[in-house]
Amino acid sequence: MQALTTEQIIELFPQRKLRELAPPNGEAVDWGVLDYLGWVHPSGHLAYAVVPYADELKTLTLRRSANDEGPPRSHMCSWCNFVHRARGAAMFCATVAGTDGRRIIGNMLCSNLDCSVRIRNLTGDMPGFMPETINLEHKIARLENALLVFLSRANKL
Ligand SMILES: [Zn+2]
Repeated sequence: MQALTTEQIIELFPQRKLRELAPPNGEAVDWGVLDYLGWVHPSGHLAYAVVPYADELKTLTLRRSANDEGPPRSHMCSWCNFVHRARGAAMFCATVAGTDGRRIIGNMLCSNLDCSVRIRNLTGDMPGFMPETINLEHKIARLENALLVFLSRANKL
């Protein structure tokens, strides 16, 4: 995706205070390997995503629920389809725009919102529980489609 400065990232979230946002340093981000920018606030409960759509940048503010109760089990990320062996995925929820917080949608996602890095095998982690044979272009297209579906459900398009 296109490179953004830290200031540009901040401007995409005008409702957020800086300490709630804790944006990444735009200069330290490897934009060339990202289909979307996602990050988790140091508190662990808040997360944000910036998603390119047509000529715009759409934003998502997400609540992350820790996935550390009960026995470890594998979970697939709904955006990139990476299958995590245990605890590598977390539930992320977004309020549907225009519903005054009455409607919420959620997905199990890579817990650090690092889908783009995962589908390119750049995390240095073990491969997913169910390695796939489809090529990177298909994985990127599938991820982009999943992002659009989520944005649509969140009434952000
Ligand atoms: Zn993912």
